[in-house]
Amino acid sequence: MSAETKQFKAESKRLLDMMINSIYTHKEIFLREVISNASDAIDKLYFKSLTDTSVGMNKDDFAINIVVDKDARTLTVSDNGIGMTAEELENNLGTIASSGSLAFKKDNELGDDVDIIGQFGVGFYSTFMVAKEVTVLTRAYGSDKAYKWQSNGVDGYTVEECEKDSVGTEVILSLKEDTEDEKYSKYLEQYQIQSLVKKYSDYIRFPIKMDVEHTNYSENAEEPEKTVTNDILNSMTPIWKKNKNELTDDDYNSFYTDKFMDYYPPVTHIHSKTEGTATYDALLYIPSRAPFDYYSKDYEKGLQLYSSGVMIMDKCADLLPDYFSFVKGLVDSADLSLNISREMLQHDRQLKIIAKNIEKSIKNELTKMLKNDREKYEKFFDVFGLQFKFGIYQTYGSAADAVKDLLMFASSFKPEEAPAEVKEGEDKPAEKKAGGKVTLAEYVSRMKEDQKFIYYACGESAAKIELLPAFEKVTEKGYEVLYFTQDIDEFAIKALMTYNEKPFKNITDSDLGLETEEEKEENKKTAEESKDMFEFMCGALDGKVKEVRLSTRLKSHPVCLSSEGQVSIEMEKVLNSMPQNDKNRVTAQKSLELNAGHPVFEKLKELYKDDKDKLTEYTKLLYSQALLIEGLTIENPVEFADLICKLMV
Ligand code: ADP
Repeated sequence: MSAETKQFKAESKRLLDMMINSIYTHKEIFLREVISNASDAIDKLYFKSLTDTSVGMNKDDFAINIVVDKDARTLTVSDNGIGMTAEELENNLGTIASSGSLAFKKDNELGDDVDIIGQFGVGFYSTFMVAKEVTVLTRAYGSDKAYKWQSNGVDGYTVEECEKDSVGTEVILSLKEDTEDEKYSKYLEQYQIQSLVKKYSDYIRFPIKMDVEHTNYSENAEEPEKTVTNDILNSMTPIWKKNKNELTDDDYNSFYTDKFMDYYPPVTHIHSKTEGTATYDALLYIPSRAPFDYYSKDYEKGLQLYSSGVMIMDKCADLLPDYFSFVKGLVDSADLSLNISREMLQHDRQLKIIAKNIEKSIKNELTKMLKNDREKYEKFFDVFGLQFKFGIYQTYGSAADAVKDLLMFASSFKPEEAPAEVKEGEDKPAEKKAGGKVTLAEYVSRMKEDQKFIYYACGESAAKIELLPAFEKVTEKGYEVLYFTQDIDEFAIKALMTYNEKPFKNITDSDLGLETEEEKEENKKTAEESKDMFEFMCGALDGKVKEVRLSTRLKSHPVCLSSEGQVSIEMEKVLNSMPQNDKNRVTAQKSLELNAGHPVFEKLKELYKDDKDKLTEYTKLLYSQALLIEGLTIENPVEFADLICKLMV
């Protein structure tokens, strides 16, 4: 193999440029990245050794070594892990991690250093923040050939065969020269390395060793005596094996940001040790931000799965239901066998019990947050609440029990209008800040005695919803209206069907259940009188509506549309905006409703008597108006415009 210089893939090159010129203030993380690669490599070989005796290694044989050479300004991290073949060297170090590359394609401009470095765990390339040249010597397990990879970042890299006695990898960093602002020599200081290992890599389960100089002051000797010992710098206890009271939030958070490649600290963590039908430790995190690919097909949910401290799977999807797919973390159980396959795992009874427990504890944690820290919960819900609704929709409501109490919606409720006094034996209604959201339980607790439904309205924004004709009438009755501003909202609620046995009702539904018995009688009479006119108008609309009828939910507007059946007007909009629905257009079954209390109604009656042609035109106009109010497009805008002009002249 020749040592010709090869170029990095384009996107890797951009990342490297950024690393070389980085102004990132936490350059020290390079050591964490190199050590965690070494640890992963050892994990792989250790795992192999447990099922394959020909590896011939024991747990105690594995170690990561750090060697400092101050004269040569090099820092070397070596491991006796699985190593890399020539091909792996090319693939792994010539290109950045694929998750990162995706993000790069999206952001044409590389923004702020911090974000990229933190979010995508740039891994190995972070060494170029501190090193002017990086050399990797590696020999893969099962191979008798070793290779040397070398690069200064800028001019590409070379790969050539080399000598290496043992299996594993050695990463040699030639540190940059010190500058005014940055003293790279500090990474050659024993104390600095010791504290970086403690800070970032303490939980690594294999020993990280280094020659450490100790100064012993004894009373007799004139000079203090110096001795050098090969020390283990890390405590090697995985964080989840420690007791909660030994750990600070900082410990939990830095473990999270390291391990799960998120720059932002999590909203909260759940650390549990469980014994009983299933025995396991779990450490779970709720992130504060959604990963860039969260709401896409590419996102892979799952928890890391360990069997007695050995990682057996990176993303065990069976441990998390879809509606909690944002949770990160790990489960460590002695009950699971090491060489269990993915297929076997799916049927593992133990794993099923663990998954059930985990679901419960996530739900409890979120419920607690909702109760005790409303602001934090609302922030969380803004990021991941959509996932709950998808969950309910996709599983046809079987997710409902788990998440229905965790849902939040904006609503027409104004806290200043809430009764101040609290009835005996009742909980104080939750404080709601302006712009804040309400839960379904809160909605139901405020329902009027005669109120049969949980009312909701769909629209782009609260402002648009408040302009809907029926909104006025419903809220005037003192009924609260939930605002559905996300496309999925109504679909999810249809899957949920009821909450606390109260059915949901879209305010554009035909039967709103608003009138009293008297009003019903009155309406029936008026409707009877105008029956023929309604039929005529319906005919004028030529099948576009199922019927024309009297409205019970209009106050100041003359007309509106209502829908019946499974597909609401809002759902029609959403379904038809999906590309695959181009051919199969879905339409809600609509009716045109008229307000008998509006002067226009009298005019229509006159026309029915005297001028049927004009009534036809007016009917078309009213229908188009109603479409526009609902945010639908009118079928024939030119005709609509012509009719209005005709009215004007
Ligand atoms: P990541 O660790 O996130 O995958 P890195 O850029 O840190 O990304 O490393 C890229 C890949 O290079 C690793 O996934 C691994 O396959 C390989 N690698 C890095 N360091 C070592 C090592 N010490 N031993 C074996 N393989 C390594």
